[in-house]
Amino acid sequence: MQELLTALLELQELEIVLEESRIVHGDAALPSAVRVEVRVKALRQAVPPGELRRYDGLRRGGPAVVKEHDGSCGGCHLNVNRGDLNRMLRLEMDWLCPNCGRYLLVTL
Ligand SMILES: [Zn+2]
Repeated sequence: MQELLTALLELQELEIVLEESRIVHGDAALPSAVRVEVRVKALRQAVPPGELRRYDGLRRGGPAVVKEHDGSCGGCHLNVNRGDLNRMLRLEMDWLCPNCGRYLLVTL
């Protein structure tokens, strides 16, 4: 689960870099943007299709992957039940915020 979340977090960060690059430079892709696009493509191929669909759906409404901090979700800022966090760490539960459904990178 952690590997998936780490891959999705990198994907999200790179896609934001590309979006910002397009805003600044238009469609004239810089050599650095081309390298980022290659990495984005590789990451998207490595992520299972079902997870990628969920990720893309979440990304339309803002960040899809957020970090857990002091028991709160970095997306909706609501507290996540300690029992749920422990279940996530024991891999008995998917790493998704029970409140907003975003991918939650648990960092306990
Ligand atoms: Zn949340």
